[in-house]
Amino acid sequence: MTIAVDGPAASGKGTIARALAQHFGLSHLDTGAIYRAVALEALRAGVPLDDAGALAGLAHHLDLTLLEDPALRDPETAEAASLVSQHPGVRAALLEFQRSFATRAGGAVLDGRDIGTVILPDATAKLFVTATPEVRARRRLLELEARGHRADFDGVLALIRLRDRRDSERAAAPLVKAPDAILLDTTDLDREEAIRRAIERVSVALCNAAQGRAGRAPPPAGHFV
Ligand code: C5P
Repeated sequence: MTIAVDGPAASGKGTIARALAQHFGLSHLDTGAIYRAVALEALRAGVPLDDAGALAGLAHHLDLTLLEDPALRDPETAEAASLVSQHPGVRAALLEFQRSFATRAGGAVLDGRDIGTVILPDATAKLFVTATPEVRARRRLLELEARGHRADFDGVLALIRLRDRRDSERAAAPLVKAPDAILLDTTDLDREEAIRRAIERVSVALCNAAQGRAGRAPPPAGHFV
C-alpha cells in the first residue's frame, strides 16, 4: 500500500503525511528532504547550482546522514533545493531511492511535488494538499521564528511565490495535481482538522481501492497475468 501526498511549500503536506503514516502504520519519506540534502551538500562543497552534471553526481551518492542535519531546514537550503530539483539528472538519480523506499514491506507514505504523477503513478491513494500563498507564508513565518530566524511576512511570501512558480513551471516533473488525486485545501483548517479530513478521505480512497481489487473479475482460464 502506498500513499502519495503532494502540494506546494508550507501547505501542510508534511504534517499530514506523517499523521497518515502513523494512523495507517506505514513508513514515511519526506522527499523534499532528499532534494534539500543534495542542495546542502552542493552549497557546502561550493558546487554551482547550475552545474547539472556535478549535482547529479552528488544525488547519485546521496549522503543520507545529511537528512538529520538541522541546516536542512534553513531558508537558504530550501531556495537552493528548488534550483537543484530542476535538473532532470538530479531527479533521475533520486527516483529509484524513492521508489524502493515506497515498495518496502508494509507500504509507505511519500510526500513531495511529483509523487502522484511521476514517482508513484499507481499509488493506492493520492492527496493533493494546498492553501493560499498568504496562509502558507504565515505558517512558514511562524515556523522560522520558532527556530530563531528573523524574517518578515512580505519577504517570506515573495519566496513562497517564487518557489511555487519555479516548482510548477519547470519542465522536469512539475508540481501539478494528478487527475486522480483528492484535493484538500487547508486554508481555513487548523492542524487537527486538516489531519482529520485527510485521514477520512484517504480511508475512503483505500476502501474503494480494496473493493476495486476484490470486485475485479478473475482472468479467464489459461490467461497468464
Ligand atoms: O518540500 P520542501 O519544501 O522541503 O522541498 C524543497 C524543494 O525540493 C521544493 O521547492 C522543490 O523544488 C523540491 N522538491 C521536488 N520534488 C519533490 C520534493 C521536493 O522538486 N518530490
